[in-house]
Amino acid sequence: MRVEFVSLGSGSNGNSTLVRVGDTLLLVDAGFSAKIIVERLNSVGVAADDLTAILISHEHSDHVKGAQVMARKYGVPVWLTRGTYRRLKDKNIPQVEYIHPHGSFCIGDAKVTPFPIPHDAAEPCQYVIGDGSKRFAIATDMGCVTPYVSQQLAGVDALLLEANYDGDMLHNGSYPYALRSRIDGRYGHLSNEQSAVLAASLEHPGLQKLFLGHLSENNNTPDNAFGSVANRLKRGGDDVCVLKRATVSEWFCVT
Ligand SMILES: [Zn+2]
Ligand SMILES: [Zn+2]
Repeated sequence: MRVEFVSLGSGSNGNSTLVRVGDTLLLVDAGFSAKIIVERLNSVGVAADDLTAILISHEHSDHVKGAQVMARKYGVPVWLTRGTYRRLKDKNIPQVEYIHPHGSFCIGDAKVTPFPIPHDAAEPCQYVIGDGSKRFAIATDMGCVTPYVSQQLAGVDALLLEANYDGDMLHNGSYPYALRSRIDGRYGHLSNEQSAVLAASLEHPGLQKLFLGHLSENNNTPDNAFGSVANRLKRGGDDVCVLKRATVSEWFCVT
């Protein structure tokens, strides 16, 4: 079976990733309007009706903005934790499937392993998705790297990793103290440096692709994120790609 994925956009204003495992199409997060998501799906050859499920990581609007409309309009079931569901402003979702953040499950051909992330949301989790052999993981919205997160990400074949902010830009920038503290706190986001340290610890010959995502618009640049991570990796920046905020990436196929 093939495991493929494409980013429909990633940044602090919106995140959505399409993952295809065999015939199963999963949309992980829907942090743009339904209109934009449908346009971007179409641009990669996928119709909204074809989605098998929407997986939500947590209730922040940069992850759920279009989820409910997509669910209602196209009849797509939404999988999320009970805590995330409780915090949704719009709870009108025709088909909700509750997940436990420590329990693996299958959706069609996809084996999904959620893992809890340290983030200031009700019951946030991210996902490792695969076909039972190849695995792709998404790891954004984490204030720090817990041993459990490292363990879940060990050995993955491809990874979309958060590189949210450049430490100097955040601390010399215009954000008020409270917001800065939220971002660089233990339940905020990963800096380029934290991301680089984690990426280096996960580097192994089978890691085929490292996407860096969820970049802050004001406190980071693609060059800084790329440079920090590439400098730490033995292989440099060869397999590293910084995702764009509002542009669809190429499909990547885990082989
Ligand atoms: Zn968040
Ligand atoms: Zn986010």
